[in-house]
Amino acid sequence: MTHSLPLRLPATRAAFQRALRAWYRTHHRRLPWRATPSLYRTVVSEFMLQQTRVKTVLPYFERWQRELPDFPALAAAPGVQVLKLWEGLGYYARARRLHRLARAIAALSAPPRTPEAWRALPGVGPYTAAAITSLAFGSPAACVDGNVVRVLARLTADGTVFRDSASAVRHFQPLASTLLDRRDPGTHNQALMELGAMVCTPRHPNCPACPVRRFCAAADRGEPGDYPRVARREPERREVLRAWCAHRGRLLLHRAAAGARRLADLYELPQPSDLGLADAAVRAGPLLLRKRRSIAHLQMAESIHSLPPATGQQRGFARRTGLHWVPLARLDQITLSGPHRRWIEEILRLRAP
Ligand code: SF4
Repeated sequence: MTHSLPLRLPATRAAFQRALRAWYRTHHRRLPWRATPSLYRTVVSEFMLQQTRVKTVLPYFERWQRELPDFPALAAAPGVQVLKLWEGLGYYARARRLHRLARAIAALSAPPRTPEAWRALPGVGPYTAAAITSLAFGSPAACVDGNVVRVLARLTADGTVFRDSASAVRHFQPLASTLLDRRDPGTHNQALMELGAMVCTPRHPNCPACPVRRFCAAADRGEPGDYPRVARREPERREVLRAWCAHRGRLLLHRAAAGARRLADLYELPQPSDLGLADAAVRAGPLLLRKRRSIAHLQMAESIHSLPPATGQQRGFARRTGLHWVPLARLDQITLSGPHRRWIEEILRLRAP
């Protein structure tokens, strides 16, 4: 059973919108894309913030604006520069989608103004289209991201168990649209997301300080942490072997193909299959580093073993697709995935004389 009906009543809805807007005006974080907003800054920040925290995005956003300050500059930039500016931010498909989007916009006489038209552009889904058009053009489109799902699930004490976060987003979209303040959709959307990020946080919601506490069914029940209910996906554990093969000031790296689903054009330390070797052949070398990391539900343990570069083997490596001997002095000029740059630097420090 849910408690969304009172919120849907016009008088309650108007009071809710007023309380939310007043709180946001005073309490929102001063962020660079809010201080001097523009369509381009909104688009770049929305892409960078997908699945990434504000604190992580800030230095990337500032550097990006210095080097690629507008759509024409981004559209004209080579892919290698775009990827390099994104290095360490993760989910690299976002950088390629943003680049394609800038090129599509640059080819138009003017950027579109409706969510429907934005969704026809490359790399723009329902959330991004709603965020961009409500913020930049005041379109009456409600944004629903993870923060908004959490706030709405708690306001209504909605006990539905969702299969995944995408189904939770779809479930709450109609309520978000009903609650949208059509006089200022951009501010309303930002306020609801900011409330989820700053007050109605996943583990410790600060209900006493919440501007919409009086509308909240979960807080009335004293159990806000019970919502939303999303089925937990079992973590998948994976062991990954990596080879460290250095010779005469060069390091052997694997570059994923341009069409690869993940990490296209990015360099990483090679796996046994990249080298045409059996796992046992790599595992036989001394262990240099063992690291754990998580990507969504995937929990990976990566072991990096030193591989002695026998001369014949080296020639074979050079011929294999995707393998490159990169001079150590040029490592800062290529785009490595974030963890691999940290691991390589750590090994180089450990091996320094
Ligand atoms: Fe979230 Fe508490 Fe506010 Fe309800 S009262 S919306 S649970 S912070």
